[in-house]
Amino acid sequence: MPERPMKKFSKSFTQQEPIPQTAIERVSEILATGKLHRYNVAEGELSEASLLEQEYAEFQKAPFCIAVTSGGQAMQIALRALGIKPDDKILANAYTLAPVPGAMFAVGAEPIFVEIDKNWHIDLDDLEEKATTSKAKYLMLSHMRGHIADMDAISKICKKHEISMIEDCAHTMGAKWQGEPSGNFGKIACFSTQTYKHINSGEGGLITTFDPIIAARAVIISGSYMLYEKHGAITKEDIFNQVKLQSPNCSARLDNVRAALIRHQLPSLEENIRRWNERYSIISAKMANQKNVLVPERKQYEEYVGSSFQFQLEGLNENQILEYIGRCAARGIEIKWFGAEEPKAFTSRYDSWKYLENLPDLPKTKQTLFKTCDIRIPLTFDKNDCQMIAEIMASEL
Ligand SMILES: *Cc1c(COP(=O)(O)O)cnc(C)c1O
Repeated sequence: MPERPMKKFSKSFTQQEPIPQTAIERVSEILATGKLHRYNVAEGELSEASLLEQEYAEFQKAPFCIAVTSGGQAMQIALRALGIKPDDKILANAYTLAPVPGAMFAVGAEPIFVEIDKNWHIDLDDLEEKATTSKAKYLMLSHMRGHIADMDAISKICKKHEISMIEDCAHTMGAKWQGEPSGNFGKIACFSTQTYKHINSGEGGLITTFDPIIAARAVIISGSYMLYEKHGAITKEDIFNQVKLQSPNCSARLDNVRAALIRHQLPSLEENIRRWNERYSIISAKMANQKNVLVPERKQYEEYVGSSFQFQLEGLNENQILEYIGRCAARGIEIKWFGAEEPKAFTSRYDSWKYLENLPDLPKTKQTLFKTCDIRIPLTFDKNDCQMIAEIMASEL
């Protein structure tokens, strides 16, 4: 009997949905005015970038928002706004993306990488230990792939050691922990609107904070020149007077065109999160039932955004993992593996950032990442697509 041809998935894992018509129309209007620079406003007028900042601050339930050119720039500016100086130490979970060590390197700081546990969260024991031994006063916490650790426990450790936390929310825009938006637990939070994140403006970043002084510094550092009064986020002149001559201009302003793209996608974010989670649960339910697969259970109070799906292959060696990924690839499923020795596409492991000095050995992190597989879930996939992806990934095991 001839073998039945295997079903092959044919959609792209990197295809975004189109930009909403309202955003395209607003962008056209802005282009027609020629006024793309955010500080090119008349007396009393608010730029598109300022309007975005107001609306995002409201969405985030944080008083201040500063829009910048990328998530990576948001992090650099956040570190400078906190007053981090060369050789300051920053604790950071080792499971993250390359712009995070890049931002720490850019300000001359020394990252102290902390282990992760089997749920991809920062390892609390290692955090406590490294906070004690390094005496670092900062923690850069990446909510990597949207997995939010126990924020109560982390906040407690930070308080005990007088550590200021920076949250990297590139994968948690719109996510919550015990009802509180991710990003509202530390001193300052950074978001990305780069194409592959939860809002797509090509490139872009947002910073939020509850501290007016940090916010004013971020405005100046982002490149407001002495036009900071037109920014709109902070109205009190005396706050700027405290910081304006002490903060460098590191030019990374967001322009009005990209601000319009972000602003006009924000109203659909809640609905998109629902759509992501619907797709995520189809894939995760199927995979959680497979032998050799671990899908860590997520805490009930974590309201995540399932824009990507991770699972761990248990008891497989390197060859078996690579063969599995190859079989899935042959059937159109693009799985990324965090165990690879060589960095590939967006995926790199902490020990590949060789420009950093004193890279530690982190056996726990390596062990978890060795088993970690990852797929994107673009919203251009419908529920049937997700069913098919799950079936292929399960049947190839
Ligand atoms: C995407 C991302 C960033 C920021 O990336 P940009 O491309 O600079 O916007 C930061 N941290 C993580 C974990 C990311 O995935």
